[in-house]
Amino acid sequence: MATAKQCSECAKESGPFHCTGCDKYFCWKDFKKHREQMSNIMEQVIEERNQLQETINIEIQSDIQSNSIIQQIDSWQENIITKVKQVADKARIQATELLNSKRTKINTEFTTFSQGLASLKETENYVEHELTELNEKIAQFKLDLEDTVRPAAIKVHTELSETIDWENMIYVDQEQTLAKTQQQRQYDQLEQRYNQLQEQKNQFEQQYNQLQQQYNQLQQQKNQCEKQKDQLQQQYNQLQQQKNQFEQQKDQLQQQYNQLQQKAISKLIIKFTWKKFHYLY
Ligand SMILES: [Zn+2]
Ligand SMILES: [Zn+2]
Repeated sequence: MATAKQCSECAKESGPFHCTGCDKYFCWKDFKKHREQMSNIMEQVIEERNQLQETINIEIQSDIQSNSIIQQIDSWQENIITKVKQVADKARIQATELLNSKRTKINTEFTTFSQGLASLKETENYVEHELTELNEKIAQFKLDLEDTVRPAAIKVHTELSETIDWENMIYVDQEQTLAKTQQQRQYDQLEQRYNQLQEQKNQFEQQYNQLQQQYNQLQQQKNQCEKQKDQLQQQYNQLQQQKNQFEQQKDQLQQQYNQLQQKAISKLIIKFTWKKFHYLY
């Protein structure tokens, strides 16, 4: 026969309900309580899970924020590229204009020269001196053309762009912001502490003034008491003197009384003696 298990909680009832988790036996009431406790823990776990979900949602939102920072960087990059393109376009136009103006000049001069040459050839109206001039002109055109295509003739200036501090042109720094916030917080705390101390100082000063006032009043009272004490001492001395005088008078009266008493006794003795004597005789 299997021994009846006792309830591990109340030990009164027989415990027919077995928990495989903790390997304990329970009565129905305590078994229900045991299950409720576990159910409560489960509720706590779920609650914590929900809080974690909120934290994760906030993290995702901050991810969105970091995305917006990336977007800011992207748009900065686009702006800079646009500006660079605009400046390069302007430089291209400047270069084209410079090159074209030289070419146009040569072209115009060359056309005039060619027309003159053709007319001279046709009329055959030339001499050595004109042939020399024509040769000189051709040599000059060759020089001009060489000058036009020579790279040094037109120079591209990029000196300023070499000095651009690209490293610091854009940068992102969270730590500095955090440090600033911390500094601000520390500063606020210090200011708060300073205000508190200032308030305490004012209170202490007020208390000090009150105590000073009280001290002055007590000092005044002390002076009055000392004056009264002196007066009382004087009165006491006078009374002491009077007492001494009274005592002296009392002693004198006592002496007088004693003398009178002695006289009276001696009179009585004489009277009595005389009576006795008279009776005998
Ligand atoms: Zn259990
Ligand atoms: Zn029980």
